[in-house]
Amino acid sequence: MLYNSTQNAAEVVSAAQAIAQGISKDGGLFVPQEFPKYTEETFRELLKTDYKGRAKKVFSDFLTDFTAEEIDECVEKAYTADKFGGTNPAPMAYTKLNGAPLNILELWHGPTCAFKDMALQILPHLLTKSLKKTNDGKDAVILVATSGDTGKAALEGFKDVDHTKILVFYPVNGVSPMQKHQMNTQEGSNVRVCAIEGNFDDAQTGVKKIFTTPEIAEKLAENNMLFSSANSINWGRLLPQIVYYISAYCDLVNDGKIAFGDKINVVVPTGNFGNILASYYASLMGLPIAKFICASNANNVLTDFIRTGVYDKNRHFYTTMSPSMDILVSSNLERLLYKLSGNSDDTTREWMTALKTTGKYEVSDEVKAFMTDNFYGGYCDDAKTQDTISRLFNEDHYLCDTHTAVAVNVYEQYVAETGDTTPSVIASTASPYKFSKSVLEAVAPDAALPETEFDMVDMLNEKTGMPVPAPLAGLKNKAARFSDVTASEKMPEYVLKALNIE
Ligand SMILES: *Cc1c(COP(=O)(O)O)cnc(C)c1O
Repeated sequence: MLYNSTQNAAEVVSAAQAIAQGISKDGGLFVPQEFPKYTEETFRELLKTDYKGRAKKVFSDFLTDFTAEEIDECVEKAYTADKFGGTNPAPMAYTKLNGAPLNILELWHGPTCAFKDMALQILPHLLTKSLKKTNDGKDAVILVATSGDTGKAALEGFKDVDHTKILVFYPVNGVSPMQKHQMNTQEGSNVRVCAIEGNFDDAQTGVKKIFTTPEIAEKLAENNMLFSSANSINWGRLLPQIVYYISAYCDLVNDGKIAFGDKINVVVPTGNFGNILASYYASLMGLPIAKFICASNANNVLTDFIRTGVYDKNRHFYTTMSPSMDILVSSNLERLLYKLSGNSDDTTREWMTALKTTGKYEVSDEVKAFMTDNFYGGYCDDAKTQDTISRLFNEDHYLCDTHTAVAVNVYEQYVAETGDTTPSVIASTASPYKFSKSVLEAVAPDAALPETEFDMVDMLNEKTGMPVPAPLAGLKNKAARFSDVTASEKMPEYVLKALNIE
């Protein structure tokens, strides 16, 4: 299977090249040229196997330049029971709200307690194999812009991986205290973390610019290095996410929640549009998904886009209690638009250029019609987010984090508006303990909040009885290693300096 750039269809690469490079030289994103189609028989086979078996099947159909042994090794090393707290790294939790069943796909049982681990525990294995296939002994420099969770998950995935260095940029006031502490205490000899004065979009724009500046790339090449990306613009991030939607469907069937062949809806708390795009790609492979419900917080640029066909990032940027969704430029939407424009690189480039120059674009009537027929966009603010956490906890003792609560709230809005009772899978993207303060305020509104993050963790544990994930509990007495802050315009200089190649 080959891949091409969304902004230049003539730029055709292998899977290994797409993963090693991260982003195309023209600034476009790599997309598969076709999608494998799974028959009823394929799905019946997948029902009988476990998460790793399902992952191997999906990976082998997309990574055709990898051997079966290579894929086996990547999957076996990534999804171990000790790293994911059990043999199913993405288990379903069945709870209820307003008396109706709620099927929650818990994606946060990995080492950093956010769904990013599902992809970032395997990406380093895929990347080192890709580098071997494509480059003659160059070291990869992984640049990451993070709204909180990607940074830590990438650091944890890449720490001490041979022939890689990783540099993470996060918005100085845009992540939760736990997220900041997780990153600043990161171990490993090849890691570096820096805050930037600006928001996530500034960090992401800065990283994209560094990737596409030829002089910087040349400087790296002279020093036997090349850039790669661990952000969801990298195909190696998206591919692992397709697996858990297919696996969730199999689990729902095996658990007797749906009949084989039934359609489901998916509900995804969305930021950069990677997670929900993965569910769309799963549907292209034959997974029966009826509606894609895209949930946003107050940064509701996607809600407006889905409803009107106009993407307009010229609006206020809100810092919310679901910081991993505080994003106005959802990079992976580009991949969907490429597909919906009939694989037109010209059209995609036109829209993306308009976005860059004016902050705005309007899609064609066909794309608009597709979006309103297949997607539902909704959003909720911080007060409703906390209200949802509280109601869910009070009704069935199920505790969720702020991002998941946004999804649950938007799902409620969807059901109220449409009356659609199709069984739905809600993607749960983080442990509530990554956002203890907001969650604690929701479930114990009268409690006097303690001062430190870890005292809040303990209090949340006392009030709810929900166990604190070991990776978070273990950070309590760790000292910070990183404290750099830089202006977002200075990111290129910072990178060269950090690599000692000024
Ligand atoms: C990254 C993240 C999201 C957003 O996912 P996208 O793939 O960027 O849309 C939602 N919730 C949490 C907790 C995250 O870390």
